Amino acid sequence: MAFFRDGVVNLGLILLVLMLASTALLGRWFCGWGCHVLLLQDGCSKLLHRFGIQTKPFRSRSLSHVPFLLGFLMFFWPPVYRWGVSPLSVKLNQHYQWIPAFAGNETWPGVTYEFTTSEFWRSFPSFWVAVPFLLICSLFAVWFLGSKGFCFYACPYGGVMAPLDQFAPGRIVVDDSKCERCGVCTSVCTSHVFVHKEVHDFGSVVDMNCMKCGDCIEACPTEALKFGFTVPPFFKKNAKPARESAFRISRSGEYALLVVWAIFFFGFHGLYNIFPLLMAGGIAAIGTWLVHLTAKTFQPKTVKFSKLHLRKNSGVTSLGWSARILSLALIAFAGHSLWVRFESRSIQDMASQVDLDKRLVFSSTPLIATGEMALVCNECIARHQKIQPIAEGGLAFASSPPTWLARAWCHTALGEWSQAIPFVEKHLDYFGFRDDVAGDLGLLRQLAAPQEAEVWYLDQLSVHPQSVRLLEDFTRWLERQGKASTMIVFCREHRDRVAPGGPIDLFLMRRLSLATAQTGELDESVVWFERTLNIEPNNPAAWLRLAEVHLQRGALDSVVASARKARALVSDDPRLLTQVMRMLDAGGAIEEAAALRQQL
Ligand code: SF4
Ligand code: SF4
Ligand code: SF4
Repeated sequence: MAFFRDGVVNLGLILLVLMLASTALLGRWFCGWGCHVLLLQDGCSKLLHRFGIQTKPFRSRSLSHVPFLLGFLMFFWPPVYRWGVSPLSVKLNQHYQWIPAFAGNETWPGVTYEFTTSEFWRSFPSFWVAVPFLLICSLFAVWFLGSKGFCFYACPYGGVMAPLDQFAPGRIVVDDSKCERCGVCTSVCTSHVFVHKEVHDFGSVVDMNCMKCGDCIEACPTEALKFGFTVPPFFKKNAKPARESAFRISRSGEYALLVVWAIFFFGFHGLYNIFPLLMAGGIAAIGTWLVHLTAKTFQPKTVKFSKLHLRKNSGVTSLGWSARILSLALIAFAGHSLWVRFESRSIQDMASQVDLDKRLVFSSTPLIATGEMALVCNECIARHQKIQPIAEGGLAFASSPPTWLARAWCHTALGEWSQAIPFVEKHLDYFGFRDDVAGDLGLLRQLAAPQEAEVWYLDQLSVHPQSVRLLEDFTRWLERQGKASTMIVFCREHRDRVAPGGPIDLFLMRRLSLATAQTGELDESVVWFERTLNIEPNNPAAWLRLAEVHLQRGALDSVVASARKARALVSDDPRLLTQVMRMLDAGGAIEEAAALRQQL
């Protein structure tokens, strides 16, 4: 995912490629032998069995295709969006304005390699997400959807591996002369594969749900089964999985289930930045099962789940009514979630329409949105207020973190800097430090409360000493405030916090060389200039600034020497050449300056 979205090559990507390549040869062996979620599901199956709860597979033809959709969304949608949907929608929008332009994600960031990370725990969900996630994807999925319920109705990895399995020659094959059609293999298969039928019809298991776990091989009393290589199902005629005959839901029922699933999935996925794709998939599958079960209570038939009645001949039981209320509540919640998700998306799109130049918006005479743009900002803020948590005057159950910067930008564009600050702060708290966002927060603080800006920058830079953006903005701000002495003290102290000779140290030394020249500490200025030029000697502008400092000191030989260094680095920049000429003149190298003047 990180690769398709951000171009990051990490160990996860390498593992995925190896996994897919080996699946094309050996089938879904990874599912059977390498997946921790399957281990959890198998553990839950055994646990439920121990408590006397028999699980029954929920069989839906339409929902069995859901993993393919999830696999597409997870792996293929980001590149399709980046290189297909986004540029196409922008082009279409230029001709037909009613078509929305989905911009913002179309630039490929290039490939980067990340084989180590200092933020290992950041990729893990919080405790409050992890626990429900594990319950939904293992215990509840198995209990309500049957063994491996999560695999068959919610796993995007399975959705990518299953089609590849159809090309794999590695399969469970039968020695037909030994098979007695006893069906033991089918009874032990927790993937609900009709093993005895498939090996009889095709000589091997053709079902893409076979995870090559080997349970059937172990259980076969005549040792008729083994793992071997044969013609893949894709190249066999009519090699359809035998379990397909077990789907009982009518065609219209299947369509209805798909609609319900979509409401649940798109309502929950990414909601409040809490529900990851896998969890939303699990909730959607279980929610759809519940709605299906509840719908059956409206028919005049006995309806049971496990050994519990939801409807008897005498009517709907209290459990049946509870299921109805729960289904209704879930659908209402999912509908509300869809609205929140839609509003979140719209708010971000609206904020991206506020196309003001950031440099002007954050300048000392800030540009403020007017007319149409101000209207967009105000509408964006009003709509955002509606999806704030109830406790903060909104109609949502929690905040939507991805919208915070959009709201902050609209406040900023309207000149409401103090109102923008809390949203940027919340973003940084929630998503972690980011140089550009922290930089914008600093600029907002400069505008909203200039008297407190210095303390804020010092505080931030003590925690994030490597932040280039904060350093640049802070030193520039001190310069504008005429606080050169404060800047010198800060830069000297800050050098102790960064790697000597590194890019940030170089930046600080440059600042020191200029600031000390400004305050008249000329000898110190020369020292800083020389140090920076030792690291970065091919900088003609720096040589010229050094020449100016030497001139102020009256060291004319050094003026000429520095100007010559600059001259050697400049070939055709008339502005720099004019400065070189001026310095040569001032240093007494009149003839050299005249020659250069002629050349110019
Ligand atoms: S389908 Fe998904 S959850 Fe199931 S075993 Fe395979 S990778 Fe694991
Ligand atoms: S368990 Fe063995 S003998 Fe029985 S049906 Fe399966 S393959 Fe044939
Ligand atoms: S029991 Fe046999 S058919 Fe079933 S998943 Fe395992 S290997 Fe495949």
